[in-house]
Amino acid sequence: MKSRFEISFSPYRILIGLVLVILLINFTSTAQPIAKHSLNREAHTTKLRLLVFSGSDWCLPCINFDQSVLQSKSFRAFAELHLTIEIADFPQHKKLSKSEIEQNERLAEKYNSQGIFPHVLLLDNKGKILRKIITNKANTEQVILQIKPFLPDQKLVEVSTSIILMGSAFNITLVTNKSLGDQYLKQCVDEIKSWLSSWRERSTTSQLNSMAGKEAIEVSATYYQLLERCLEISRLTQGAFDVSFSGLSALYKFDGEEHPLPDKELVAEKLSYIGYTNINMLPGHKVFLSDVHLQIAFGAIGKGFAADKVKKLMIDQGVIGGVVNAGGDLTTWGRRYNGEMWQVGIPDPDIKESIILNLPLDNLAMATSGDYEKYFTWQGKKYSHIINPKTGLPVIGARSVSVISNSGEFSDAMATAVSVLGLEIGMDLINQLENVECVFIDNNRKLHFSNGLQPVTN
Ligand code: ADP
Ligand code: MG
Repeated sequence: MKSRFEISFSPYRILIGLVLVILLINFTSTAQPIAKHSLNREAHTTKLRLLVFSGSDWCLPCINFDQSVLQSKSFRAFAELHLTIEIADFPQHKKLSKSEIEQNERLAEKYNSQGIFPHVLLLDNKGKILRKIITNKANTEQVILQIKPFLPDQKLVEVSTSIILMGSAFNITLVTNKSLGDQYLKQCVDEIKSWLSSWRERSTTSQLNSMAGKEAIEVSATYYQLLERCLEISRLTQGAFDVSFSGLSALYKFDGEEHPLPDKELVAEKLSYIGYTNINMLPGHKVFLSDVHLQIAFGAIGKGFAADKVKKLMIDQGVIGGVVNAGGDLTTWGRRYNGEMWQVGIPDPDIKESIILNLPLDNLAMATSGDYEKYFTWQGKKYSHIINPKTGLPVIGARSVSVISNSGEFSDAMATAVSVLGLEIGMDLINQLENVECVFIDNNRKLHFSNGLQPVTN
């Protein structure tokens, strides 16, 4: 599909061009002139060619591309090393020499027969087209990312690894130079392992749980801050997400089999022990669980938290793009090796290993909670492993809830919370949050989208 900024030489588009000329006369007279780029290619250059078809005094997207990308400091530095830039200009006022006009027309005949403006091509030094550069709203970084995979010495590749730890499959994909791929992947796996083992060995959670009602425990800053964020999410979701839910989970077996529901009295008793307001955050990174029965667990936020940690480590190492998928809770950054956005799939709740919807993610995280992996059934109903801390009962009816935000941890916790809150209240909450979106699949396999997520039709 052509971008809506592309303008070709069809009669209709010439008309648009003329309107633009009129609109732009003032604009161009004050704007900086399009840079004059050298047309002399070095005879034996190994540099790639960036061929830019432009209408330097009438085509607004061409002028934008020139000013925001070609003339930017970082692009000029990049181009100096790797590119020869050729501008094939088709101005409507500016006078070009006869030889320039002939040269540009020759180039257009070969590379731009449809007369699209701007039209930007990456060529090798023999003139072969390597790729068309997407210029629509692209910034310098995105344009460089599209070029990088073709640089002889800096070819970017995607490297991946999968590892199953503590019952969850971790999949990591990184965009990097081939030679560094293995080293970065190893760092990711080490990070996950060390995080999991520190979580297990020191077992802060079991210490806290065993000292419930007795004593405050000093925890690490990371743990303390995570717990604080959990409490914030509990307040935001009016207790739908609650790390103190844990006492209830002993009542259920989510083994995919058929089980009766537990006794109402038993549920009511366990429910009376639940409550995030009994988690007391004290000075000096101390935490006190003030009810003797209170038990906390991080099952609904831990994977998103781990994904964010790995992402941060990789960004700190200078890895320009990747996806860290911790058992379905994933986070992305940068772009794919070819400059495209990451596409992530929401699993079909009914068909194993099948995707019901693909979404492009631009530096975003997505976590999905569903009833299709851990559940039990009773009297024809499917009970998910997510428990409503208000009723003590497992959730029914939320087949799959995916939350998209800029944090894996937040998405993870909110997917659980929206499952508890249900379609109406959950979606209403999501729609009130900035930069947070949701896809909710109900019992009839119907997909519901939050306001900021409208299906794109190409
Ligand atoms: P998944 O583990 O499939 O990604 P979730 O992120 O929704 O799914 O986490 C579900 C887990 O969270 C449950 O297995 C349980 O350990 C825990 N949990 C269940 N209900 C709640 C709740 N209301 N608040 C916080 N944690 C919960
Ligand atoms: Mg979750």
